[in-house]
Amino acid sequence: MARVYNFSAGPSMLPEEVLKTAAAEMLEYGETGQSVMEMSHRSKEYQAIFDETEANLRDIMNIPDNYEVLFLQGGASTQFAMIPLNLMTKNGKADYIITGQWATKAYKEAARYGAAREVASSKDKTFSYIPKTTAADFDKDADYVHICLNNTIYGTKYHTLPDTGDVPLVADISSCILSEPIDVTKFGMLYAGAQKNVAPAGVTIVIIRKDLIGNAMDITPTMLNYATHAENGSMFNTPPCYAIYIAGLTFKWIKKMGGLEKMKEINEKKAKILYDFLDNSKLFKGTVVPEDRSIMNVPFVTGNDELDAKFVAEAKKAGFVNIKGHRTVGGMRASIYNAMPVEGVEKLVEFMKKFEEENA
Ligand SMILES: *Cc1c(COP(=O)(O)O)cnc(C)c1O
Repeated sequence: MARVYNFSAGPSMLPEEVLKTAAAEMLEYGETGQSVMEMSHRSKEYQAIFDETEANLRDIMNIPDNYEVLFLQGGASTQFAMIPLNLMTKNGKADYIITGQWATKAYKEAARYGAAREVASSKDKTFSYIPKTTAADFDKDADYVHICLNNTIYGTKYHTLPDTGDVPLVADISSCILSEPIDVTKFGMLYAGAQKNVAPAGVTIVIIRKDLIGNAMDITPTMLNYATHAENGSMFNTPPCYAIYIAGLTFKWIKKMGGLEKMKEINEKKAKILYDFLDNSKLFKGTVVPEDRSIMNVPFVTGNDELDAKFVAEAKKAGFVNIKGHRTVGGMRASIYNAMPVEGVEKLVEFMKKFEEENA
């Protein structure tokens, strides 16, 4: 067996230990005589898996009791509609900061249901930075402010949160959930598709302040109402059982590793190895302004499309896969989520050095 170093932006690598546990438990979970995939979601065995998974997430992220944790389906993209349907209901308006493609999609979806306003954007420079805002930029009557905390495609991240005053901050954390500690109390709501840093695609994690639930628009489909899921412990209908089980294994792995402080330390170490190389390279360069760089997604270019393509092809042959940039931006992107070992980044940099020598 030869596992590659997978730099995919998502679905992405999972910790090997998680995959091994899942493999060992594939035919029989505990003494149940069945796979988790085959279990009734109403069984006490599955409920125990579910409860432990939620408890571990609450523990790792330090989620206070006045927040609901929901395990939903539909990906982060379904949240783009659920957020306005459920939250844009007091004054019918919301503020959006446009930092890339996902933020744009969230904004466009919200505009279908109410007065979504673009507060700031970094589109003028291909989303290579996070636009600065002050409290005065936000509408005090907005029902919420939406941001994308880590921009998967462009490789930027918020290192300090915008000051939105009393307006609840809603953040898409799909590509940075569990990468470092986060102060949940600073947000009205956080959400993330699982396939970047948590589990296979299929489960979407929503962490929402309880007082924000229960005010959905009348047109809101039952399945898109947070109250439906909050009142039924995420089991109004069949939840994505197996993806939740894998998320649970990942949470256990993070706890064993030393929690989010430790993840942050390792992730910063990996990112530094890559950025230090890019900053000193004569061939490769990073595309993001240094102060807004992501520690999860690192886009870079040679400045020559042919050379970029050659690099991607040779990297693949050498066992570094999915390193091509997003189809809309080109170049390269190394996604270095929690499951990517330090060694993977060190070996990638060695390979980049060699490529630079050969192609200078
Ligand atoms: C991947 C991604 C999405 C889309 O997630 P789906 O689960 O495919 O809908 C949304 N936002 C961010 C920041 C992402 O990285």
